[in-house]
Amino acid sequence: MPKISYKIQDCLNPVCPQGKFIPKRSDQKFCDVHCKDRYHILKNKKERHKERTITKTLRKIDLTLAEMYQNCQTYKLKQIPFESLQAGGIVVDMASKIEKVKSTGNVVHWFIYYGISGLSPGYFQIIKREN
Ligand SMILES: [Zn+2]
Repeated sequence: MPKISYKIQDCLNPVCPQGKFIPKRSDQKFCDVHCKDRYHILKNKKERHKERTITKTLRKIDLTLAEMYQNCQTYKLKQIPFESLQAGGIVVDMASKIEKVKSTGNVVHWFIYYGISGLSPGYFQIIKREN
């Protein structure tokens, strides 16, 4: 059987010292085991960084919601306009969990300890987690 030779290709490790290599198998993605390890270490590092950034943003939003919640309690406000949430840097899409409350049927966008729920168009109620 003739020996198959593969075309030179890029090593998937972004910091590969060689950059390119000649694969020995069709599914080979790295020039050697060191590049393979390095690639996965870098990938995990990137993912951890991403997770930390998301956690930081969630905490920041939650702190702002805690303040807003307190203000609502103080001034006896049942709801606040969406513009106030926006001004406070609340990004609804950043919610860590979206839950439908069985008793009321309302949808709550939870961050950490605080969540928001739309009461009427353009208005939201800030909710504190029970437990
Ligand atoms: Zn390599």
